[in-house]
Amino acid sequence: MLLAIALTILTHLVIPAVFLAWLWRETNRSKLDWLLKLLVVALYIVHIFLIGRWDWFSYYLRFGLVILLIVAAYQSFIKVKALPLYPPRKLGHYVSLGISSAVILFFIAVLGSYIPQGYSFGGESIQLAFPLKSGVYYVGHGGNHPTINYHNVNPTQRYALDIAKLNAVGTRANGLYPELLTNYAIFGETLYSPCNSTVRKAVNNFPDLVPPQSDRNNPAGNHILIECKGADVLLAHLQRGSLTVQERETVEVEQAIAKVGNSGNTTEPHLHIHARQANTGKSVLSGEGMPMLFSNRFLTRNSVLFHR
Ligand SMILES: [Zn+2]
Repeated sequence: MLLAIALTILTHLVIPAVFLAWLWRETNRSKLDWLLKLLVVALYIVHIFLIGRWDWFSYYLRFGLVILLIVAAYQSFIKVKALPLYPPRKLGHYVSLGISSAVILFFIAVLGSYIPQGYSFGGESIQLAFPLKSGVYYVGHGGNHPTINYHNVNPTQRYALDIAKLNAVGTRANGLYPELLTNYAIFGETLYSPCNSTVRKAVNNFPDLVPPQSDRNNPAGNHILIECKGADVLLAHLQRGSLTVQERETVEVEQAIAKVGNSGNTTEPHLHIHARQANTGKSVLSGEGMPMLFSNRFLTRNSVLFHR
C-alpha cells in the first residue's frame, strides 16, 4: 500500500511539478523548442487529468493543474516571443528536438490506446437512478477500458463502477489512507434502489474490514442483487446488518435499501455497482455485463455527481 501511495504522489504531484517548472523556467533556443516542450507537458497533464485518482488529493486540484499549465505556457511564451522559429543548425539541437518529438508521439499513442474505447460503450444499456443522495459522488473506477476501470478485463464487470463520496475539500477521506472507516466520506451513506425491482439476493452478515484488509473469499461482501428491467444489478461491499430488504421482496425506485460499508474484497469503503443481462450467470459475479446510464450519463473515472 505504501508503494501505491508513493506512486500516486509521484505521478499526480511530483512529475507535474517538475514538468511545469521545466516549461516555466528553462531557457529555449527557438520557438520550436518551446512548442515541443509545451506539448510534452500538456500531453502528460491531459493524461494524468483523465486517469488520475484525484479523490486522493482533491478532485478540484486537477483543475488547478490545468490552470498552472496555462500560466506556465503564457509566462514561457513571453520569453520566446523574440526568438527565431527554428534553432541554429547544430547536431545537439536536432537531438533534443528529436527526443521531444519521440516523447510527444509516445504520449499521443498512450492517450489513443484508451480514450476512444474507454469513454464509449456498445450493446444494450440500462437506465438507472443514481443510488446515492445528499453529497458529491466520485467515480474511482468506471468506463470501458482497463486504464480507467480495473473491472473492465472481467466480462461481467466490464462496465462496473466503484463510487466514493467527496468531502468539502474534494477528497474521499480524511487522510491519504486512514484505517478508521468513519474517516471515509461514503461509509454509512444510505443506499437507494436504482429501479423498481425485485430483490433476488440479499447478504448481510460479513464484517466491515479495517482498510486495507480485504476478504478475497467473499468478493461481494454484503450485497444486494436486484432485478431491474431485464438486467440484474449488483450493489456490493455494504455495511454489515444495514440491509432493510429481503430476498423476493419488491422495492420501489429510490427506496432506502442498505448502507455503504467495507465488506468483501475491497480495500476501502466504496459502493461497487454493475449490471448484467438477467439470469446470464450462476453466481452474482458471472454473466454478461451491461453498460449503465444514470440520467443518460455513461460514468467514467473522475465523473462527479452533485446531489443535494
Ligand atoms: Zn468494484
